[in-house]
Amino acid sequence: MLRRIVIVGGGSAGWLTAGLMAADHRDLQITLIESPDVAPIGVGEGTWPSMRDTLRRIGVSEADFFRECDASFKQGSRFNRWVDGGDSDCYFHPFMLPQGYGEVDVPQHWQAQHPDVPFADLASVQPHLCVHGRAPKQAATPEYASVANYGYHLDAGKFGVFLRKHCLEKLGVHYVPDHVSAINSHPDGDIASLQTNKHGALEGDLFIDCTGMQSLLLGQHFGVPLISQRHVLYNDSALAVQIPYASDDAPIASQTSSTAQSAGWIWDIGLPTRRGVGHVYASSYISDDQAEAELRAYIAQTGGPGEIPQPRKLSFNPGYRERFWQRNCVAIGLSAGFIEPLEASALAIVEMSAAMLSDDLPATREAMDIVARRFNDAFRYRWERVIDFLKLHYVLSKRRDTAYWRDNTSAVPERLAELLTLWQHRAPSRSDFYRLEEVFPPASYQYILYGMGFRSDFSRAARPQESARADAYFQQAAALARKMLGALPDNRALIHHIKLHGLQKI
Ligand SMILES: Cc1cc2nc3c(=O)[nH]c(=O)nc-3n(C[C@H](O)[C@H](O)[C@H](O)COP(=O)(O)OP(=O)(O)OC[C@H]3O[C@@H](n4cnc5c(N)ncnc54)[C@H](O)[C@@H]3O)c2cc1C
Repeated sequence: MLRRIVIVGGGSAGWLTAGLMAADHRDLQITLIESPDVAPIGVGEGTWPSMRDTLRRIGVSEADFFRECDASFKQGSRFNRWVDGGDSDCYFHPFMLPQGYGEVDVPQHWQAQHPDVPFADLASVQPHLCVHGRAPKQAATPEYASVANYGYHLDAGKFGVFLRKHCLEKLGVHYVPDHVSAINSHPDGDIASLQTNKHGALEGDLFIDCTGMQSLLLGQHFGVPLISQRHVLYNDSALAVQIPYASDDAPIASQTSSTAQSAGWIWDIGLPTRRGVGHVYASSYISDDQAEAELRAYIAQTGGPGEIPQPRKLSFNPGYRERFWQRNCVAIGLSAGFIEPLEASALAIVEMSAAMLSDDLPATREAMDIVARRFNDAFRYRWERVIDFLKLHYVLSKRRDTAYWRDNTSAVPERLAELLTLWQHRAPSRSDFYRLEEVFPPASYQYILYGMGFRSDFSRAARPQESARADAYFQQAAALARKMLGALPDNRALIHHIKLHGLQKI
C-alpha cells in the first residue's frame, strides 16, 4: 500500500501539491524537502478562478489569504496593442462566460446584430466591471463565492509562506529544510530515497519533483527530455520589477494587463501594496538592454515612479517534458515545463496536476504505472492546448512592425491551423474541445478570436431562429452590467473590508 509521499521543492508547486494531498488523504505520511540554498522562483502572481476551489479544498480561509498574501482580485486579462499596435487597440479575455453561452451561438448573433461593439463588451458584463475597477463580489458575499467570476493576483513569496504555515500547522505535513544531494534507486529503477545533506536518506513510495526548472528528479535523474517549443513561442526571457503606487489609495486594477512591445509584451499586475510589472521577450529578437528600456518607458507612461529598482532577469527554455510521471516519480510545476505566462496558465496546470494526482492516487505500486500512463496522456494534451491557445494571440495579430511579429505568424501547430480553417465558417464550439477537463473552454477561444478582429462567415451555420433570444441575452448582459456597477465596491475598498472584518464562511 502506498503511504509515504516525498515532495522535493517549496515553491508554489510544492506547497499547493502538499496541501491538496494532505487535505484529501489524512492517512498519508507527506514530507516536503526544501533546499535552504535554492530560493523559489518568486514570480507567478496571476491565477485563474480554479485557485478558489484549490484554496477551499486545502482548507484555508479566504480572508487570511487576502491578509497574508497581499492578494487582490483578478477578473481576466486585458490585451493592449496586440492587434495593430495602435493607442486604442485593446480587447478583454474575461473569466465569465458570454451571456447566453451554450444556449445560442453568441458570436454569430453579435456579428450580425452589433458588429461594431467589441465582442466581450457586448457578451459579458466583466469588461465593464474591469474598466471601472469594480470588485467581483460584495462585503456580504461569503468566502470563495462570487458575483462575477474571479481568480487572484498575489505575492508569490508570501503565498509560499502562507501555504507552508497551513500545511505544517493544520495538515500535518512533515517539513525538512535541507538540500537533496543524491538520489538512491531500487534495482528496478524506482527511486528508493533521497539523500539530504543533514537529514540522511529520506525514503518514500512516491516522489514528487517540484524542484523548479532544474527538474532534479524527472529531468536530471531520469533523463526525461524537455520538448522545446521555442520554434512556436519565441519568448525565453523576462525582466521583472515591483513598483510602488503613486499614493496609498490608488485604484487596484481588476485585471492583468498585457501590453505588446516590439519583441514581447509587458504584464502589469496590481496588488494592494504595489504593482508587479515585467517584460517577457524573445532574446533572439531584442537585447536585454533594449527590453529594459521598453520596460522603463512603459512604467513611465503608466504613472510609475521615475526611479525603479534594477529589474530581475529570468531566462527559460519554453517547453514541457516528454513525460511527467516516470516510474515512482511525478513532476509538478516548473520541473514539468514552462511556457511564457501570457494567460497565467502555469499555476492552473499545477492545480490540475495536484488534483489529478490526489483524485487518482494509486493504492499500490502495480496500479501506479496505469495511473502514470493516464496522467502523461492528460497532461501532454493539456500542454499542447496551452501552446495552441497562446499561439493564437500571435497568429491573429496584424502587427507587422518588427521581425518578431512578422515571424510569429508562422509555425502554427497543426491542430490550431485546422481549427482556424473550421472557424472561418463557424465559432469555436464544444465539439472542438471535447475532453472532460479542457484547459481553455471554447468561450476563451471566442474572446480571443473575435476580440482580435477575426470574422467567421456564418452563412453555412446560420441560426436566424435564435436571433431574438440572442438579442435578449445581449440586453440582459447590459442590464446586469448596470446593476453590478451600481452594487459592487471598488477593489481597494473591498480588500480593506476583508482585511478588517473577514468574510462570512459558507
Ligand atoms: C517571468 C515569470 C512569470 C510568471 N507568471 C506567472 C503567472 O502570472 N501565473 C502563473 O500561474 N504562473 C506564472 N509563472 C510560473 C510560476 O512562477 C511557477 O509555475 C510557480 O511559481 C511554481 O514554481 P515551482 O514551485 O515549480 O518552482 P520554484 O518556485 O522554482 O521552486 C523550486 C523549489 O525547489 C527547491 N529545490 C530545488 N533544488 C532542490 C534540492 N536539490 N533539494 C531540495 N530542494 C530543492 C527550491 O528550494 C524551491 O523551493 C511565471 C513564471 C515566470 C518565469
